Order: sequence, then C-alpha cells, then structure tokens
Amino acid sequence: MTDSIKHSPNSPILLTASLHVDDARKAISGLVNELLQESRKLNKASDIESVTLDQAINRILAKDLLSPIDVPAADNSAMDGFAFHGDCLGNSETIVTLKIVGTAYAGKPYEGAIGSGECLKIMTGALMPNDCDTVIPQEFTESANESVVEFKQNQVRRGDNRRLRGEDLQSGKAAITAGRLLRPSDLGLAASLGIANLTVHRKLKVAILSSGDELRPLEQALDAGSIYDSNRYSLTGLLNRLNVEIVDCGIVRDDPTSLKAAFVDAASKADVLISSGGVSVGEADFTKQIMQELGDVGFWKIAMRPGRPMAFGMLKQVEGSSHKTLFFGLPGNPVAVMVTFYQFVRSALLQLNGASQTEPPMTQAIAKAPIRKKPGRTEFQRAIVGRGPDGKPTVKLTGSQGAGILRSMSEANCFVILSHDHGNVAAGEWVDVALFDGLL
Ligand code: AMP
Ligand code: MG
Repeated sequence: MTDSIKHSPNSPILLTASLHVDDARKAISGLVNELLQESRKLNKASDIESVTLDQAINRILAKDLLSPIDVPAADNSAMDGFAFHGDCLGNSETIVTLKIVGTAYAGKPYEGAIGSGECLKIMTGALMPNDCDTVIPQEFTESANESVVEFKQNQVRRGDNRRLRGEDLQSGKAAITAGRLLRPSDLGLAASLGIANLTVHRKLKVAILSSGDELRPLEQALDAGSIYDSNRYSLTGLLNRLNVEIVDCGIVRDDPTSLKAAFVDAASKADVLISSGGVSVGEADFTKQIMQELGDVGFWKIAMRPGRPMAFGMLKQVEGSSHKTLFFGLPGNPVAVMVTFYQFVRSALLQLNGASQTEPPMTQAIAKAPIRKKPGRTEFQRAIVGRGPDGKPTVKLTGSQGAGILRSMSEANCFVILSHDHGNVAAGEWVDVALFDGLL
C-alpha cells in the first residue's frame, strides 16, 4: 500500500494523491478482513444456514462438504463394448476371439462368471464383473456373428476403459471445500453424493440508493433537466448474480437531512451500503460533511477510467443495530458504477461472505484496432471478444467509451483492462480481457 492511504479503525482512510487501483483494492480487502475478524470473534450461529440444492446457486459454502461414499461406488465400464480379462492382450496384431456370454446394462449387472476366452457385452456405467479388468470399445471390434467378438491384441491395454471405485472421490474426503462460490457443477456434484442440503453463509444484506436531485423514478415523467435513475437497476442486476438480499432505499435528494436519514436507515438494515452519485468533485464536500458524522469514510481519487471518484469506508454502528456497515460511494456515471462495482465491490462482497476465490478470471485477446491509452491510470474499455480467421481470440471496442454511455456497456461482452503503466495499444497486440459472463 502506498503512503497516500492509511487506515485504522479510528482514523479515516486518508488520501493525498491519486490512488493506484491495486492499492484501492488492498485497502478495501484490508478493511473487509478487519470486519471478518470482528464477526468471527462473535461467532454467531445465524451466520450460516442450511439450504436445499435448488436454493444454493451462487451461495458460498460454509463448511467442507465431505463425501459419504466412494465415487464411483464400484468399478464400472467407461464405454459401450466388451469386458474381459486382460490376460489375453499383448503387443502384436494377433486376433483375439472371445465368446459373448451375456450382457450388463447400467443399473442391471450381470450375475454370472466370465471365464478365459469369454467376454461380457457391457454398456457405459454398467458394473464390471469381478472376473474382468478391461473393456474393448464396440467400435474396435469385429464379429461375424452375435455370439463372438474379435479384435487385435494391441487395440487396448489391460485396465483400459474401466472406471475404478473411488476414482473421482473417496468416502470422507472433501468433495467441495468451504469458501466455494457454488456453481451448477457443485450442485450436481452434491446431488451425485446423495446430499440434498448444503451449509452456506447467510445471504449478505446489501442496501442500494441513488443520490441526485435530477433523478426520477421510472413511474414519473421527465421534467426539464431530469433523468431516469438507471443505476439502481444495473446494481440490482449485478447484485442478483451474487445472490445477496437487496434492500432498495430508492432515490435520495441532494440535501443533507434526507441524505443523512437515508444513510442511517440503510446502515441499520444492511451489511453493506452502495450508493451512487454525489462523490464527484462538485459534490464530495457535501457528502463528506455527512460522512464525518456517520462513520469512518475516505474519499478517493482513483487513477482509473472510468470511475475516478469513490468513497469507501465503514459506517458507525447505528443505535439499535448489531453491526457495522461497509460503505461504497460509487460515482454517479452509469458506466463508472458498473466498472467500480466490478473492480472493487464484487470482490469485497464475496470476501465478506466467506468466499475463498474473489477475483474474476482474466484472459487475453488480440486488439483488432489500436487503442489510445494514457499511462498513469488503469482503464476499463468496453469491448466484444470474438475469434479471428486464425481461430485466435480477438477484441474490438464497442463505440464511444464515455463514462455516461451505457450502450457501450450493454453491447459489450467484456472489459479490455489496460494496466496503470500501459501506453497506447497497437493493432495485433495481446491485451487483458475480463469476460462479463462465465458460462458455467
Ligand atoms: P455525480 O457523480 O452525482 O456527479 O453524477 C455523475 C453523472 O451521473 C451525472 O450526469 C448524473 O446525472 C449521472 N447520474 C448520477 N446518478 C445517476 C443514476 N442513479 N442514474 C443515472 N445517471 C446518474
Ligand atoms: Mg449528483
């Protein structure tokens, strides 16, 4: 962390210069960690709950999920083919001829014995008979009639195409570790073990509010100079992806009394408050004044684009409430809201909710055209990842990149992230890319 920020529970996060994105992230993570330590000391049972699998998507697993069984529970076939004893295999092209003595289906094992020179027709997932250790796939075999099968000795090796008991998972071992953000595959995995409920961290309560005299709710007609409040809707969408409980505190006017009342109300109801607007140069002093009374909040100028101004800190425990509230004062510009959420808020919420992996995955793609970039700030440009004629991933910016132009975001499927020291990007250069959606 640079000297420009300091934080302790009793002194606000101070800022004297433009803050590197990485330092902002460290400061946020440090404060979230303090909050976690405090809440761990309290060790409340209400912080975890048991949910059914259909409710568990995007929740955070609170305890290691131990497998009650071996997976697979018994040796079985990985292919449709013929099971036999591998004694007859070798390195030559000599033809092996085996007599088919029966058939085993998934869920319908073959009960009889299989001797030397014999084999069992077997379907994928069917139990391997004790006498067999190898499966020759159907497509490698030839046969003149229904009762024998022929293949070359060197077509398979002994033990091939057989799934061993406990190969995926052994009984008593962790199938999913605590801290996992539960994805569809985790729900399937739990179900495959016969587990119908998962112990997860309770949902975070996240309050959102929009501040600005110019903002109107969607039900109201626009008068001169007013605009619709869009930020609460993009924030709601972003938060729904994290399966948190949203407390919508609406639109708040730019006057100290209403703003203060709204912050106090939100803090009493939520673990985290996310506001947008009111932190840019013209308005920050006004918000700062209120924050001085309500908590320990720093006003940051972050070296990034979009999203330069941001307030962050902790709201004091309000009377009657049992918790402190983490506060993010995001800039008002609609794109800046989404970028700062992606860059700072998402990881903080995951960390606060016990997730072990909080960083969104990054990849790289080739810039299709030059991109202008000034060194000295991290830039998040909206773009579309595609595929070039050679099959390599390419990336192209989506139109005008102004911080208020939400369409650039709506049409994009990724951010191109240009690091602090990076200068102009030439066409053909590999750049860092963060996809908006993970498929799985
Ligand atoms: P501010 O950070 O309050 O100075 O706002 C920056 C810009 O974002 C201004 O043009 C605002 O009108 C706009 N803005 C602020 N809040 C919202 C909102 N909730 N929805 C849409 N635009 C907003
Ligand atoms: Mg404003």
